[in-house]
Amino acid sequence: MKTLFKGGLIYDGTGRKPFKGDVLIEDDRIVKVAEKIRNKADKTIDISGYQICPGLIDAHSHNDFFYDRDDAEKFYRPFIEQGITTQITGNCSFSPFGMDKNTPHRDKIGGGLFDCKNPGSFADFKKRAEGNLFVNIVPLIGQGSVRAGMTGYDPAPYTKAQIEEELSYVREAMEGGAFGGSFGFMYEPDRYAKEDEIVAFAKEIAKYDGIVTVHPRANSIVSADYPLITKKSHLEMGVDEVVDIMHKSGCRMEYSHIIFVGERSWKLLGKLQKTFYREAFENGNPIAYDNYAFHYGASVITVVFPEWYAKLTPEEAKKPANRRKLELTILMYRKVLGIDWDDMVVAYISDDHPEYEGKTIPQCAAEEGLENLDMYLKLVELSNRAGSIYLGKYYNDDIVRSLMNDELSVFMTDAWIEDKGLQNIAAFQTFPQFFILAKKYGIPMEKIVRKMTGKTADRYKIPERGYLKEGYKADITVIDLDTMKVDESKPDFRPEGIVHVYVNGQAVMEDREYKGGKAGKVILKK
Ligand SMILES: [Zn+2]
Repeated sequence: MKTLFKGGLIYDGTGRKPFKGDVLIEDDRIVKVAEKIRNKADKTIDISGYQICPGLIDAHSHNDFFYDRDDAEKFYRPFIEQGITTQITGNCSFSPFGMDKNTPHRDKIGGGLFDCKNPGSFADFKKRAEGNLFVNIVPLIGQGSVRAGMTGYDPAPYTKAQIEEELSYVREAMEGGAFGGSFGFMYEPDRYAKEDEIVAFAKEIAKYDGIVTVHPRANSIVSADYPLITKKSHLEMGVDEVVDIMHKSGCRMEYSHIIFVGERSWKLLGKLQKTFYREAFENGNPIAYDNYAFHYGASVITVVFPEWYAKLTPEEAKKPANRRKLELTILMYRKVLGIDWDDMVVAYISDDHPEYEGKTIPQCAAEEGLENLDMYLKLVELSNRAGSIYLGKYYNDDIVRSLMNDELSVFMTDAWIEDKGLQNIAAFQTFPQFFILAKKYGIPMEKIVRKMTGKTADRYKIPERGYLKEGYKADITVIDLDTMKVDESKPDFRPEGIVHVYVNGQAVMEDREYKGGKAGKVILKK
């Protein structure tokens, strides 16, 4: 089956200036890219006035946890409707493989964020996922999930023998075709891993020329996981740790979802860039990062709890002395971080309480005549401590603009579809938002497309993807920049301006209509 895309503006993923031309695909391969293609095709699609790009690659995803659900398609569709054809998964220390299939700790493998239905080896995952994917997946193995599979949330440091066992899972995954591994130093149980275990894991990945992605220990100027008084800001200390692991292990390193939580963290952008530029450009080390397009992200409702408060029983937590201490702690974080109650939007409390969804804490508090803290604690309780929120002030416009122009960054969503409650806008509108911002900021579109395609493919060493190039896989996204539209007031708004999406030569979106189909593959490292 030959399909000819005729008369579009070609952005080939290399970052060079676009040119008008045609793209011919046959089955799952691109066979020709040229200014005029005269070959006969079974189907010709007129794309004049549109832009044609390689299928977009989401550099940071958790969509390896949803393919085996009965309602799997709903978890992938909004990403396809953004033009995404490939997602890099297994981030933030979480992967649904890398453990014994009979592990007694199945409930801990997703760190409380994701439900792992079918734990097992990488080979098990590959077999189960193949033929059941709506987009392509580039798998990484998460250290936290390996650790959880072995010892749950046990904080004890690992012995040499335990580290050896951990590495056996890494080897199985890397030999099977995984692209690397991930850390998530803010999450249980990965936060308990000590340096020897961390470096051993990264070294094992490096042996296979894999990449290591890291959710750092701090995302703000101060954070709960470091002592309060330190020489450097906690955000910088988190970066230093990542650089140190790279030096000690020799791995290729990706600092995941670079963010600056709270207004007072924003000023650290320059300092962080300086460190990364020194490592990458002066010292020639393989380190880089990825970023979002929106100013806020999803979190659990208890995210502002200090560790001591989180450990209290509900009765203890209600004692006035503890409430007062919590109030002071939160006040301090509000001041020091530059983040406040109105930066917190309720996403989900419980099935019985949809009335709070989409409202800020002060909005809820005003309606019920409560103080902000009391309102917040009421919501925590109503949700059984399992509610979710959107937390604001990761960035301002200048930071997003700077990161979009930054040589080291590629683009990602880090979002997933929620079963209930308010959806995360990033799961629906991130990549179209990047296109719109590029226009607004005057950033050349070829540079933006490259950060969604070729650059990402190069960084993760994804074979035969990321470029419109003869012989490459037919992942194709056709967009219409003139009608590109998002709606920040509606998180689950379906963006406009994505015209055709092909995954491995199969049309999953045609003429702006979603078609779907299990066209995705588990991509394996060569
Ligand atoms: Zn993360």
